[in-house]
Amino acid sequence: MKTMTCSQLGGPCDLEHRGESADDVIKAQDRHLREAVRAGDTTHQQAHDDMKGRWRRPVRAMGWYRETKKAFAELS
Ligand SMILES: [Zn+2]
Repeated sequence: MKTMTCSQLGGPCDLEHRGESADDVIKAQDRHLREAVRAGDTTHQQAHDDMKGRWRRPVRAMGWYRETKKAFAELS
């Protein structure tokens, strides 16, 4: 298990996500952003919009995924 924070994934806070793979922490971040915005947290709105844009344009988002997977792989 490795840990990546909300801010490492492009968000504004230091909440930690734990997962076996980069996909796990990306999914956890997606959920966290959605819940924060639904709860009225405007600081997470931009990161939430960015994440939604990634789902819609997966080809353009490839660079971000690669960077995130690389960052995850380099965690000890
Ligand atoms: Zn956050």
